[in-house]
Formats: sequence, C-alpha cells, structure tokens
Amino acid sequence: MNELLEGITWLGHASFKIKAPEGVIYIDPWKLRSAEPADLILITHEHYDHFSAEDVQKIRKPDTTIITTASVAAQLKGDVKTVKAGDTLTVKGVKIEVVPAYNPAKQFHPKQAGGVGYIITAGGRRIYHAGDTDAIPEMNQVKADVVLLPVGGKYTMTAAEAAKVANAIKPAVAVPMHWGDIIGSRADAEAFRAQCQVPVEIIMPEK
Ligand code: ZN
Ligand code: ZN
Repeated sequence: MNELLEGITWLGHASFKIKAPEGVIYIDPWKLRSAEPADLILITHEHYDHFSAEDVQKIRKPDTTIITTASVAAQLKGDVKTVKAGDTLTVKGVKIEVVPAYNPAKQFHPKQAGGVGYIITAGGRRIYHAGDTDAIPEMNQVKADVVLLPVGGKYTMTAAEAAKVANAIKPAVAVPMHWGDIIGSRADAEAFRAQCQVPVEIIMPEK
C-alpha cells in the first residue's frame, strides 16, 4: 500500500474515511458498516449515494462540522458550512478547496446543480476527491498527491477518461472509486489501472 494512503479507508462507492492527525474526516459517507465519530464530514452533492442523512447521523457528534453544497445544507441543521466551487476554507486545521464537479453533456449532474469535489490537505498531503463528474477543464488546475476518481461511467467518467485525468494531474497515487455498487465493476478499476501512467491502488472496501 502506498504510504500516502495511510489512514485512508475506502468504504465503497464514493465513500471514504480519512484518519489524519487533524481528525477523522469522512467524504460522502454511505452504507457505513462501522461508525467511528467524525470531526469533519464533507458531502459532494445531494444524490442518495453521496448524501445519506442516516449515515451522517451515525457518525455525527455534537462538535462535528459538515461541509457541503447548498442543496444538502438545506436538509441539515447545526454546524453546517455551505460551500460552492471556488471556495477555500480551513476547518479544524484541514484546508479544504472546493472544486466543480459536473457532466458537460449528460443530464445527471448539470453544472448549475452545483455539485462539487474537494481537495483537502490532511496529514501533510493533498487529497482530491472528484465527486460525480466527467473530465472537465477545471481539472487542469488540480494539484494533488492522492486522487480519488470515479471510473464507473454513465454518471461519471469512464475508466479511460479517468485515466487521462490522472495522467494529466500526475499524483503520487490514484485510487478508482464509484465502482462496485450501482455502476461500474472491478473490470473498470482494472482498466483504469492499466491505462494510468501513475501508480494506482485498487483499495478493497472495508467489510
Ligand atoms: Zn450523483
Ligand atoms: Zn454517484
């Protein structure tokens, strides 16, 4: 396992837990099997496979901060920071850069829906979670050590498209996501690895 993935657990689909010195961070928690309390929860957009109120409830404690888009924030109470693409903020020592995520030519994630991805700096590395997106020009600006990219196709990039993005960003390690549930298969993850010119780790989901 690449050392930059230390503390990063794939919980399946687009759901990740990152344990860093700054705290326990979840991105798009869904279908959680265990419920370590969260310091930060980041949610990319309102689709049920990314925003699950039930899963948020399982890991939320009184001082958990949630960072998310307006459409999700409207469904939550308490310590919730509403963000949009272009925002940069630091919460609990974690720098968070909010980047766009959308489909230029499909109806699932129109740009105006306001879905996002995040680049977070935690544990001394920059981790890019792309959200539900196709390859978009804004990705040319992304600098990251670890990239978590959707590869399942249909709603997001295909494996081949995601590999092109990884090859352009040139992270130290790329991890395929958004496969194995709803859409995409192990074959997509393998195709992604085969077409990447950067190191790829296919993480197995927590069971
Ligand atoms: Zn979606
Ligand atoms: Zn999705």
